[in-house]
Amino acid sequence: MSTYTVINPATASPVKDISMADLTQTDAVIAKAHKAFETWRKVSPGDRAKLLRSFARIVDEHIEELALLEVLNSGHTIGNARWEAGNVRDVLNYYSAAPERLFGRQIPVPNGIDITFKEPLGVIGVIVPWNFPMPIAGWGFAPALAAGNTVVLKPAELTPMTAIRLGELAKDAGIPDGVFNVIPGKGSIVGDRFVTNPLVRKIVFTGSTQVGKSIMKGCADQVKRVTLELGGKSANIIFADADIEKAAAGAPGAVFDNAGQDCCARSRILIQKSAYDKFMELFEVAVKKFRVESPDLDTAEMGPLISKGQLDRVQEYMPDQSKIAFTGSKPTGDGFWFAPTVLMADSTNDRAYREEIFGPIVSVMAFDDEEDAIKLANDSEYGLSGSIWSRDIGRAVRVSRAVEAGNLSVNSNSSVRYWTPFGGYKQSGLGRELGPDALDAFTETKNVFFDTQN
Ligand code: NAD
Repeated sequence: MSTYTVINPATASPVKDISMADLTQTDAVIAKAHKAFETWRKVSPGDRAKLLRSFARIVDEHIEELALLEVLNSGHTIGNARWEAGNVRDVLNYYSAAPERLFGRQIPVPNGIDITFKEPLGVIGVIVPWNFPMPIAGWGFAPALAAGNTVVLKPAELTPMTAIRLGELAKDAGIPDGVFNVIPGKGSIVGDRFVTNPLVRKIVFTGSTQVGKSIMKGCADQVKRVTLELGGKSANIIFADADIEKAAAGAPGAVFDNAGQDCCARSRILIQKSAYDKFMELFEVAVKKFRVESPDLDTAEMGPLISKGQLDRVQEYMPDQSKIAFTGSKPTGDGFWFAPTVLMADSTNDRAYREEIFGPIVSVMAFDDEEDAIKLANDSEYGLSGSIWSRDIGRAVRVSRAVEAGNLSVNSNSSVRYWTPFGGYKQSGLGRELGPDALDAFTETKNVFFDTQN
């Protein structure tokens, strides 16, 4: 068995050694989850609901502990980390209402009765990235468990600590042995085994588009079900008729939150030419005020990047000829710090403008009119998120219908609510998480005809 040493991104110092599962151990846990499925699927809907509510309650009692673990392991600001732990509680509570409401249909047919049932799939493999270890885990395991499946969950190598703790809390809540299993390990070993082991009936993957594509290919061998939440390069579209003060004040948080390591980051700002100067002036003030500091401070708005590797990758997007409009601040000393950076894009072919950086860099581009804005916004292989700022309601409706992305906000940058659907267009993903429809992704529809003539 190998180990991985977790590093505190704010100080670059080691935190803890974590054991990484090998193939044999992974198969053993999958087999255990498969066995547990037989009894978990038969737990009555009311009892399954109670167990999920009890899990939510125990998470709620440990919000501060989980948040501090995330600050230590991932460098998230304490404010964000508390929200993230609270999101796990909320998602569990939301889906705890599902077992008693997994309705089928009764469809009129001649000579009998036709009923559909929502049947669980079996073992669900949830593969989680390092950028939001707690919420992304919860978006997979909560609806999966609610629908009667069992779960094997692999956290990212870099950020296993909160997932391991959530696994322990599930046991404390009375979730039966084998139903919810956390397996820290490498993507190429544990994650890949989820894809190749036939006892895993579905993969829920969040991560890079590149790995997502290889998982989709691997799943094809067994026609394994798959949900993918992948990258993004979302546009923050600001029309001259918008409340420019508000749009500028919100723009730093929309891209620099979580140090830009957010698939929904609005990392392309499209601003109408006539409002360009006014916006940039206000935006500069807002970026310079954005507090980049030790993530355990209540005032912190941005912490460090996750790792030295990520810092190096982000730095590659800053060639010498980059046109830097202005930057924010960063602390000195150890840790993987990168100051918020605003670039003026020369062309839509600039690497920093086109590619997902997953760091605190935003590219600004001016546009002429509505048609131009839509064309620029859609000129991307991604389609996850985005914002539209305008006081013209007709325009806001037209543009939000025309932008090819799964999660948009108008006069706001907020894209995630646990009770509304989340997911991407184009190469940003496949399927939807959260909200009322996510349960469909964790069930098969079975149709049964009962002949009443015999
Ligand atoms: P990654 O794709 O390298 O890893 C994601 C997870 O997949 C990790 O747990 C990793 O161990 C595992 N993995 C890696 N190789 C694997 C393989 N061959 N088989 C199975 N599993 C494997 O991504 P990352 O670096 O952890 O995360 C950053 C990326 O995730 C960014 O590109 C970002 O856009 C994307 N992301 C998307 C969303 C979304 O909801 N759309 C959310 C968060 C992150």
